[in-house]
Amino acid sequence: MGAAIELDRLGLSDTVILEREDDLGGTWHVNRYPGLAVDIASMTYSYSFEPNPYWSRLFAPGAELKQYAEHVADKYRLRERMRFSTVVDAACWDEENSWWRVTTAAGEVYTGRYLVTATGFLSQPYTPPFAGIDDFTGRIVHTTDWPDDLDLTGRRVAIIGTGATSVQLVPEIAAVADELTVHQRTPIWVVPKPDFPIPRLMQRMFAAIPVTQRIGRAINTTILEALMVIGVLRFRQAKPLNRMAAVLGRVHLRLSVHDKQTRRALTPHYDFGCKRPTFSNKYFTAFNQRNVHLETSPIDHITSDAVVTVDGHARPIDTLVLATGFNIWDVNFPAFEVIGREGKNLGKWWRDARFQAYEGITMPMFPNMFSLNSPYSYSGLSYFTTIEAQMKHMARLLGEVRRRGARTFEVSEQANREFLDHVTDRLGDSVFYAGRCASAHSYYFNQHSEAALLRPTSTITTHREASRFPLGDYLYS
Ligand code: NAP
Repeated sequence: MGAAIELDRLGLSDTVILEREDDLGGTWHVNRYPGLAVDIASMTYSYSFEPNPYWSRLFAPGAELKQYAEHVADKYRLRERMRFSTVVDAACWDEENSWWRVTTAAGEVYTGRYLVTATGFLSQPYTPPFAGIDDFTGRIVHTTDWPDDLDLTGRRVAIIGTGATSVQLVPEIAAVADELTVHQRTPIWVVPKPDFPIPRLMQRMFAAIPVTQRIGRAINTTILEALMVIGVLRFRQAKPLNRMAAVLGRVHLRLSVHDKQTRRALTPHYDFGCKRPTFSNKYFTAFNQRNVHLETSPIDHITSDAVVTVDGHARPIDTLVLATGFNIWDVNFPAFEVIGREGKNLGKWWRDARFQAYEGITMPMFPNMFSLNSPYSYSGLSYFTTIEAQMKHMARLLGEVRRRGARTFEVSEQANREFLDHVTDRLGDSVFYAGRCASAHSYYFNQHSEAALLRPTSTITTHREASRFPLGDYLYS
């Protein structure tokens, strides 16, 4: 939606938005599990040019994020250009006409001068191939496919996975289920969530004097920036800040969980930041409940009514919740087949060579294409920081295309190579390479053991480079 808003501003309004789901909002439409909320404060997790003074809490619940997306879509007249339940199969560069041909699963063909892929990082749900899962006679629910009418009151539930989703969901299930077994493979860092309802008076102040909310946003963004840049990206130079975050996580665990053995099992054995840390005041305490069991023995197989672990332990269940996350590196980069110049296959190139994208947004041999969810594109902790930087990049580049009267743009091989060398070099200081991450099982790392998601620069640098990158880094024709 951010890209479409930017294209409108540039006068390129002949746009169609193809969407796999049956409504808008992406993550905030698909994810509807109980406890869903943002964990970046909402004043930062929103467009800077479209603030919402009426967030009900510092960290808004998922349904409000979905409403916000609807508001943006309506205000910027995007909805009428959206085609829902439209699954894209492939996009192919048509050399002769200098345009993209996009084909859908239903056999429709769209042609467009420009192609923007905005398919997200966490949009291809992952279900591990557990032996025997098809024999399970109870209900199986993946967290991305939560039935609105699912009532777990009095049920015997097992949840597999302890990522950010599970951290939000476990306390909700624990509150109603008869029994809840949490299958943990890798413990996760959890720090307290400083969440609170935003009083009506403050909401009114944000609406009447928008600068007050902007100040709040600036303060919050600065804190996040310090965490990200100093604690994660400059780990080698600034280990103490990273260690402080880990201490906070340990103290939080110590104060929350009564049982020593459970505490030990919940303690991560890798550095803070190797994998996505989480924020919760309710996750750890759920393990004090008599109906909640932490299972750390690996899963061997699933029977008609139980998850059996390798030590032979099996607790009867009637509902299996898969909080097993997403497949990022095998099927999501890109989310469908993309064929560029001379038949170059984007996914094959990324997997065979290295995952790469100039400034995290364009690739050589793929003219007139912006790939928003690219390797090394994610900057800062709020996704909106990334989105708005990419909007700037699009504006600068397409402005130049117009100034030259060009039909195509394509980033040069050299500029792309130099950017990849630059980020690779910078990442050497990050916790991913300088820290202890081997046992983290982090989806930040791809099949080549490269942490190729995050851009290793401050968000200020990201934004500056998005509005100042050398226009000569592109070839125009
Ligand atoms: P995730 O972080 O990838 O976690 C998946 C979990 O499933 C992990 O604990 C993983 O264990 C486990 N798992 C996978 N395969 C397994 C297997 N074969 N056996 C046992 N366990 C297995 O996924 P997620 O929790 O859905 O979160 C994904 C991302 O979504 C987050 O990192 C975050 O960026 C975003 N998110 C954000 C929010 C928010 O606050 N706004 C909320 C939820 C999610 P291992 O760790 O051992 O691999």
